[in-house]
Amino acid sequence: MRKISANYIFPIHTQPIKNGVLTIDEVGKIVELSAFGDTGKDVEFYDGIICPGFVNAHCHIELSHMKGVIPQHSGMTAFCKSVISYRHSDISEQMSAMYAADKLMENEGIVAVGDISNNDLSAQMKSDSRLIYHTFVETLNLNPCFAEENIAKARNIKQTFANKGLRVSITPHAPYSLSERLFELSVAEGNNSGIISIHNEESFDEMDVFAKKQGKMRDFFGTDMDAFLSEYDNPLRRILKYIDSDTSLLLIHNTHTNERDFQQVLTRNRKPTWVLCPSSNLYIENHLPPIEMLRRKNAKIATGTDSLASNTNLSIIKELITVSDNFENIELNELLTWATVNGAEALGIEKQFGTFEKGKTPGIVLIDNINTKKMMLTSKSTSRIL
Ligand SMILES: [Zn+2]
Repeated sequence: MRKISANYIFPIHTQPIKNGVLTIDEVGKIVELSAFGDTGKDVEFYDGIICPGFVNAHCHIELSHMKGVIPQHSGMTAFCKSVISYRHSDISEQMSAMYAADKLMENEGIVAVGDISNNDLSAQMKSDSRLIYHTFVETLNLNPCFAEENIAKARNIKQTFANKGLRVSITPHAPYSLSERLFELSVAEGNNSGIISIHNEESFDEMDVFAKKQGKMRDFFGTDMDAFLSEYDNPLRRILKYIDSDTSLLLIHNTHTNERDFQQVLTRNRKPTWVLCPSSNLYIENHLPPIEMLRRKNAKIATGTDSLASNTNLSIIKELITVSDNFENIELNELLTWATVNGAEALGIEKQFGTFEKGKTPGIVLIDNINTKKMMLTSKSTSRIL
């Protein structure tokens, strides 16, 4: 047994507890959460606050070898071009970058990850990892002739992850990068698994191509887009055409989502989670998602880091600091709710993760360098797993 205390404990399912004491057993299972300060010698006391382990709801660990290689603020189409050109790097370099990224996340207090994969290269690393991964095998191809072949390939990759006992499902990349047939087949796979994670309304270029049927993205991806562009004036509507109402729908980025889009999602799906990756949005086009609107609408928000191709780190605390710097009115408990239980629920792992409720093994994270007077993160706040 360990007894752990700090200036404040944020259990997430209840209000923060000043000098609370958390008792865990040898495997990290929550045995007791006490509101009464225990000053016994057997209590480990930390300066700072304690919360459950972070859930990184959106990552692409297989892009970890691209850290620092893509210029910032060059826009989405230029970013896509760069990712495609760096995809086929040396395999051993890719593998070691993935193992290092996994360690980086573990040290920062991340306990679970929703991770996008285009191949099975990360399967062994995920099997070796102490983190829980849900792998989303991603489909993308604009040429409808290859739709059946692409789905068959995705099923094979999915099987490789499943054979290692890993959580896995198939998901479409984004509304702009799949033929109608492949999009329909991929969403059907996700509906069958009960979960979809899709990039949504991420960039100016994406909004432009649906609204105007032209622009940088159309120039790059070509005439294969025209078949579906004539049918949809907005990327989100393509998702909503096929999504089941009970599928856990992780909408990633939402940088350009407006209130009308938000309402439309609610008419089609009962379980949307709005996954925000603010550092990546700033990296690619120096723009932040509509956080005030989402909060006003009581949206369920979760946080992701995206990949090291569009972020300098894989750190949930740094994502929260970015939000806190730009929206000072958001209380710390709310930010931590995004970073813990909301991501856990979206990924269907809330029985184990997300709160300090008895019986869970959520991981224990210490956050230091907090402004305890205002109960806010500072630019110096860091997190680590205890
Ligand atoms: Zn992404």
